[in-house]
Amino acid sequence: MLKVEQAFKLPEGTEVSLRGWVYRIRKLGENKIFIVLRDVTGTIQAVVVKENVPAHVWANAEKLYHESSLTIKGTLKEDERAPGGKEVQVQELSPISIGEPFPIHKDQSEEFLLDNRHLWIRSRKMTNIFKARHHLINYLTEYLHSKGFYRFDPPIITTAGAEGGADMFELDYFGQKAYLTQSSQMYGEAGIFALERVYTLAPSFRAEKSRTRRHLAEYWHLEPEAAFVDWEENMQIQEEMVSYAIEQFLQNHPDLVEFFGIKDLHKDVKPPFPRLTYYEAVDLVNKLGGKMEYGEDFGADEEALISSQYNKPVFITKYPKKIKAFYMKEDPNDPELVLNNDMIAPYGHGEIIGGSERIWELEKLKQRIKEAGLKEENYKWYLDLRRFGSVPHSGFGLGIERFVKYVLNLDHIRDAVPFPRTVNRVYP
Ligand code: ATP
Ligand code: MG
Repeated sequence: MLKVEQAFKLPEGTEVSLRGWVYRIRKLGENKIFIVLRDVTGTIQAVVVKENVPAHVWANAEKLYHESSLTIKGTLKEDERAPGGKEVQVQELSPISIGEPFPIHKDQSEEFLLDNRHLWIRSRKMTNIFKARHHLINYLTEYLHSKGFYRFDPPIITTAGAEGGADMFELDYFGQKAYLTQSSQMYGEAGIFALERVYTLAPSFRAEKSRTRRHLAEYWHLEPEAAFVDWEENMQIQEEMVSYAIEQFLQNHPDLVEFFGIKDLHKDVKPPFPRLTYYEAVDLVNKLGGKMEYGEDFGADEEALISSQYNKPVFITKYPKKIKAFYMKEDPNDPELVLNNDMIAPYGHGEIIGGSERIWELEKLKQRIKEAGLKEENYKWYLDLRRFGSVPHSGFGLGIERFVKYVLNLDHIRDAVPFPRTVNRVYP
């Protein structure tokens, strides 16, 4: 059995067997049926001519629906009218499953397609997104492996959140309150004392009621954490990782790059990425017509203003400690600020990474937990990490779907994941 892609490379006259699904089907007159057969590698046109095939083959071809599964056998013929310049002249055709009429047609509403997501993922656009996502995750982790990071798998069910209990999905864990994890960072921090450099790649859950084009209630989160790395080296790792993944993708997948039309968007993704301090970024927003006070956080509009000045991702560093998580290390030059960064993607895609150097001294961390109004008893094991052989360390979190949305320039984050979970959708 050949794949469609292989068949296109063979000369006219070769006999081929293919299997897959009916991508399109059309009867022409009384004696010809055109079937476009789809497999994972592509689509090819096949023609069934009534006079040239046994009666049962014709009868079967007439019964097929869009998305029926089948195998065909036939001869390759060059034909410039066929997409890709070749078609298969069918000799044999066996349905694997004819099934029922496929519910998805042209011009159906977004809601309908989301309700039928389990079927819609077969579409060319979705299939290409999932291929791209697969490759991008590979390149991200390939980069991390080359820098000595181990994959380290965290639990999904936890007892407390990285940033407290708000926005967490609660569940009944054999009679005890537990939560779906919001971030695996703290487990990554535990991991570095064994492996020095680790990354977790796991779902994070956010029960925030954000109805935006870039918030999911469940998303895949890549969280590297490294011992003996300060906040500046932490940023270098981020920009090199992002740059490596995009460049490898552009180089090795020209078909996908062309499908999404993204070549020009990523002309320059070489490090270093521009760096703005929080104050510089606020000033820039105001200069560009936005309205922001020091101490406020950037929303989507402000991020879009900032990133409009660049065609590659930009770092914003050293936020006020008041608007950031308790575990971020203070700036020794200004204790009101922290040694952190966000990475903002260009073209309005917004924040794709949040990272920081972590507080590694026990007393300092206790003090920040208190100041943040959190309960020390909820961070017992986390504090232990500072009690036994603590070391300076840093880490960051990249949302896989945000990254895929940016690289492929998608309109909506839900298309970056096969089965999106949003405020109003948990089916299928
Ligand atoms: P935002 O301000 O955009 O809501 P955040 O500051 O809450 O993001 P972090 O908690 O720092 O984000 O999470 C780290 C990364 O995880 C973000 O940079 C982003 O890439 C991704 N991320 C955060 N929340 C979501 C979400 N609801 N859906 C998808 N990805 C997310
Ligand atoms: Mg958020």
